[in-house]
Amino acid sequence: DSRDFDEAVQSVCPFCGVGCQVSLKLKDGKVKYVEGINGPANEGRLCVKGRFGFDYIHHPHRLTKPLIRLDGAEKGLNVDPANPFTHFREASWDEAMSFAASGLAKLHDERGETVAGFGSAKCTNEEAYLFQKLIRQGFGHNNVDHCTRLCHASSVSALMENVGSGAVSATFNEIENADVAIVIGANPIENHPVAATFFKQFAKRGGKLIVMDPRGHALKRFASHMVQFRPGADVPLLNSIMSVIVEEGLYDQAYIDKFTENWEAEKQHLAGFAPETLEDLTGIDAALVRDVARTFATANAGLIFWGMGVSQHIHGTDNSRCLISLALMTGNVGKPGAGLHPLRGQNNVQGASDAGLIPMFLPDYQDVTNDGVRSAFTEIWGSGDFSGKKGLTVTEIMDAVHEGGIRGMYILGENPAMSDPDVTHARAALAKLEHLVVQDIFLTETANYADVILPAAAFYEKTGTVTNTNRQVQMGRAGATPPGEAREDWAITTELAQRLGLGWTYTHPREVFAEMKRGMPSFDNITWERLEREDAVTYPSLSPEDPGQPIVFADGFPREGGRARFTPASVIPPDETPDAEYPMILTTGRQLEHWHTGSMTRRSKVLDAVEPGANCSLHPSTLRRLGVEPGGMVKLQTRRGEIEVMARADRAVAPDMVFLPFAYVEAAANILTNPAIDPFGKIPEFKFSAVRVTAA
Ligand code: SF4
Repeated sequence: DSRDFDEAVQSVCPFCGVGCQVSLKLKDGKVKYVEGINGPANEGRLCVKGRFGFDYIHHPHRLTKPLIRLDGAEKGLNVDPANPFTHFREASWDEAMSFAASGLAKLHDERGETVAGFGSAKCTNEEAYLFQKLIRQGFGHNNVDHCTRLCHASSVSALMENVGSGAVSATFNEIENADVAIVIGANPIENHPVAATFFKQFAKRGGKLIVMDPRGHALKRFASHMVQFRPGADVPLLNSIMSVIVEEGLYDQAYIDKFTENWEAEKQHLAGFAPETLEDLTGIDAALVRDVARTFATANAGLIFWGMGVSQHIHGTDNSRCLISLALMTGNVGKPGAGLHPLRGQNNVQGASDAGLIPMFLPDYQDVTNDGVRSAFTEIWGSGDFSGKKGLTVTEIMDAVHEGGIRGMYILGENPAMSDPDVTHARAALAKLEHLVVQDIFLTETANYADVILPAAAFYEKTGTVTNTNRQVQMGRAGATPPGEAREDWAITTELAQRLGLGWTYTHPREVFAEMKRGMPSFDNITWERLEREDAVTYPSLSPEDPGQPIVFADGFPREGGRARFTPASVIPPDETPDAEYPMILTTGRQLEHWHTGSMTRRSKVLDAVEPGANCSLHPSTLRRLGVEPGGMVKLQTRRGEIEVMARADRAVAPDMVFLPFAYVEAAANILTNPAIDPFGKIPEFKFSAVRVTAA
């Protein structure tokens, strides 16, 4: 009987930032199936990944013993996960930890800032905190980052600049209290499916749903307004919406006067963006722009949701600045049904960022260049003076490897050999490293380049807290037993720190959580015991009884004077524009069934059966022009490289575009992508590369 189980354990889905609570049904130390339970974000719902994406943890490819590279074994994508012994040999934990620590320590001793770390947005808050602490305390600098750099770094940069906080101002469930919602540069039906169910219900109840995206994805069916604009034209489009609000006097002057600054500059700037003058650039009829502007500005309460279609551009920070300005000028922050909500990608990208796993901020976004902040953390940590210089970001670290500055890395649960832009450059950097320590659950593409691999427990095999897109801190509980000698990440990082002479003594994540609270005011009134008891508490929580505030900034903003700021955004074209050689536009993203680089979901039976291989989507007219039948193969070429991939016909994709998911190593999207970065958030332009498409 497939429904036969011994025990049920409550945890949190390990995939997206929605943070659905789950009940793991266990038998003989293994997960038999998963059910949704009544968490604050999911209210009992799960998507296909949450329901069926669990059996990867019992896959025969799981790493069960530490591995050390054989002398002289070549580094590269050539190791069979089922038979790693052509390149690696098994080692005891003692030998592997000693090798890992001594290699990093030697490089550090030789020449200062030569070691860098990538932590993980798929680990717990406690593990993210320990990882950044290890790099800062152990190596004395801030060269530590994680995949937020590839996802919402530009959103956080704009939010910190203009609102004073990088987190959402309202939970997505607040859509119940909204009259209008904008969803821009996001495809929640595929990427935040449970959140999308609330959006659909909102539309069915008569809420005005404004969907803005270069792709006409499935949420279009529920939209009151579909604004399918030209790729890269986000800033002129958003400025034109705001210019209508100014021209027609639809802004909320009382709110602007009370809570904002720099309005006059914004107003003047917008005068040059009348929608009638921008139709060619945005591809959108001025009448539709005016209707959208009026609909949003005249509603009682409006929410703005955005995803990586907004953030992954060289003008990603400007895109978010526009969205913040739109919310501020209409008074749509700090009240029920209103607010700013960048939909977070990974299950714990919010928590990992909050915990300081970023090169410019310590926990709770405290400025690493501030002497007082640094000494407060040195005091909490008991030792370990570290630099006040901002560290290198994900893509900068790879550049520094090529330049010879970074010579060793510790990578925990990240897969830059698949996820970095221009991945050929990243793979060459990984191969060049003199000492690479990889800690993961599978022999990932990145682990192929490691000198030593440390086998880790999967999320359902460990205990710790995670923070979802709604600022809800939730308790994840260990259910299944880790295979072989795999260990929880916090325990591995703790032992590595001990071997580096840092004297850490943690014996349980609750001790780490207690230490984090000392440096993180956002956790005030949230304790480990409360989370064990209540499962989830939203920050900020105003008292030990308060379940947390779904809406913030009702009384002003955490900036000087309590005022948010308008920062005008000018039009910056994409880094590459299509030309005769590369005439089309490549955009990359995810599919419902697969998660990021595919290491987990492609090893989940049901999900792999539904989406078994690499694919791209093209408009039927484009396929006809190329002479390719749906299901046939096409060649995609950019200035970085080329791949061959099966083509699907999809009317949602514009005729001059190709959409390519990045989960498939056999046709790795990031061989093609442009590494040009946003100057503020340092996020790459994954959403726009010039590409040539031909029949393969
Ligand atoms: Fe998991 Fe996200 Fe799906 Fe919820 S919506 S079940 S958190 S992948």
